[in-house]
Amino acid sequence: MYKTTKVRSAMLEIFTRNPTPLTTRDIILKLKQNHLNPNKTTVYREIEFLNNLGLITGVDFGEGKKRYELTRKHHHHIICIKCKTIKDISLEKDLGLDSSKIIKTTGFKPISHSLEFFGLCKNCQ
Ligand SMILES: [Zn+2]
Ligand SMILES: [Zn+2]
Repeated sequence: MYKTTKVRSAMLEIFTRNPTPLTTRDIILKLKQNHLNPNKTTVYREIEFLNNLGLITGVDFGEGKKRYELTRKHHHHIICIKCKTIKDISLEKDLGLDSSKIIKTTGFKPISHSLEFFGLCKNCQ
């Protein structure tokens, strides 16, 4: 039990220090830098635990793997298609504001949305 707690707090610290969304692989590498070597199952379990608590949020860039970041104010991302550099962006008018329109036109009650931007960063242009 002690070890799980240690991994969990190390992970929270990693998420706090790295504001851009991290892959599971990134997290494992950073845990190793902290001299922690938990098995993948433990890392996945901890991610699920933190995600269920709402402490971290999953981000999907369609890479075939999910990324996670510390939960904070609703925002979007722009990702460089070459070097995978990620920056946070917040929109002046968010899509969520249109939910009444979505209900009217589709009958769906939207719960969340995902809107990510792709491009080339300064270094890759
Ligand atoms: Zn780039
Ligand atoms: Zn973000």
